[in-house]
Amino acid sequence: MDIPAFGNRFASELPEMAVAWKGAAFADPSMLVLDDALAVELGFDPAWLRSAEGVRMLIGTDAPAGTTPVAQAYAGHQFGGYSPRLGDGRALLVGEFTTPDGELKDLHLKGSGRTPFSRGGDGFAAVGPMLREYIVSRAMHALGIPTTRSLAVVATGQKVRREENLPGAVLARVAASHLRVGSFQYARATGDSALLKRLADHAIDRHHPVAREAVRPYQRLFELVVVSQAELVVKWMLAGFIHGVMNTDNMTISGETIDYGPCAFLDVFDPATVYSSIDSGGRYAYGNQPPVAQWNLARLAESMLPLFDDDQEKAIELATESLGLFGPAYDAAWIAGMRAKLGLSDDISDKEVKSLSEDLLVHLRDRRADYTSSFRDLEKSVTDEGWLARWRSKNPDKDKANQVNPIYIPRNHLVEEALADPSKLEDLLTAIDQPFTERPGLERYAEPAPESFRNCYQTF
Ligand code: AMP
Ligand code: MG
Ligand code: MG
Repeated sequence: MDIPAFGNRFASELPEMAVAWKGAAFADPSMLVLDDALAVELGFDPAWLRSAEGVRMLIGTDAPAGTTPVAQAYAGHQFGGYSPRLGDGRALLVGEFTTPDGELKDLHLKGSGRTPFSRGGDGFAAVGPMLREYIVSRAMHALGIPTTRSLAVVATGQKVRREENLPGAVLARVAASHLRVGSFQYARATGDSALLKRLADHAIDRHHPVAREAVRPYQRLFELVVVSQAELVVKWMLAGFIHGVMNTDNMTISGETIDYGPCAFLDVFDPATVYSSIDSGGRYAYGNQPPVAQWNLARLAESMLPLFDDDQEKAIELATESLGLFGPAYDAAWIAGMRAKLGLSDDISDKEVKSLSEDLLVHLRDRRADYTSSFRDLEKSVTDEGWLARWRSKNPDKDKANQVNPIYIPRNHLVEEALADPSKLEDLLTAIDQPFTERPGLERYAEPAPESFRNCYQTF
């Protein structure tokens, strides 16, 4: 068997939100990078994916038997402003398949050509940003952070017109689903309450089946999204990850990280850090990510109100109560995460872990310390003897801490290097695939950024 059997579940259950579509016919596609291990894990034969037939499927020119690709409709708040109609302007949902482990996944293609949602865009993607998503999503998975996965990047052989002409590519992405906060905003805006309900039922089946057993299943679904997003954002914060474009159309219902655009890992620790060139107001700064997530979830609650109760005042009460779960879920996950990063045992109180962590972060910010390497060796990076003495008095287990403090992350200068020189890609992937295990020969992948990157790095 070359590939798993495909279905059209999203399109058949939610036809109002799916437009059957085809990828562009690219004349001369070629494989740039394929995640062989992921392919096997998902039930695809890597050799077949590399064949001409496989490559045609991975760019959307051919669809697998049994499925009709669709462009998905969604709405969204972009930088706080509402757009009623976004949707897949340069992407296609090929369909869903079941992995050998019995999990249902979406196969999605990004950069496969114009769709009815393209508006002014050309529907294409350049090699650079697609390889960047490939690298960063692979690192996120290795770091244990829920994420969409990148199966392959295929060069289209065609130029994409940006400020200059760039080589084009299609990214094949695998996700638990592509349901977003913006999907609910879209369904709600149609005024069709049956559609909204069908969407929520679909989301419960795919991501949060335990909600079905609750007295109020849709409120429970909302709560489970709130908690999974709170826990996800904590993982970003602990890893020093800045998503960069947390619009409501880029926030999943599954709790996976999605849409690697202007994202980046922190070099210098400063909560005000913004790398994205389009985020001039700093809305999506590192330190703003928790309140932004909560703001997005409030938009989800608004979209779901008709499902919570027929009495809309009662529905607002329920939604407010459920949204209130964000803070406690966030705090609990953050303290647990910092406890692990500091190597502290469960005997140390939450209050002490919180206080030690907060003091450490102020110290790191004041010193403009490199975030990742500081945690890897606190004895070396912390110059505040008082803090060190306090931490040592708690008997930290440093080896255990380093099972969660990465030594290798896709640092900005390393990602840029690999994008400029593809011969560097394999070494970078070798490092980030095992982020917690120090290995000889990879020293340069553990080093902080050079001065030029520490001060003025920008993402696009
Ligand atoms: P993003 O910022 O990547 O989340 O994209 C926001 C919206 O713009 C989505 O509806 C995308 O499908 C659309 N979009 C982004 N780039 C393009 C493009 N090159 N052509 C058409 N639509 C695009
Ligand atoms: Mg998006
Ligand atoms: Mg994007």
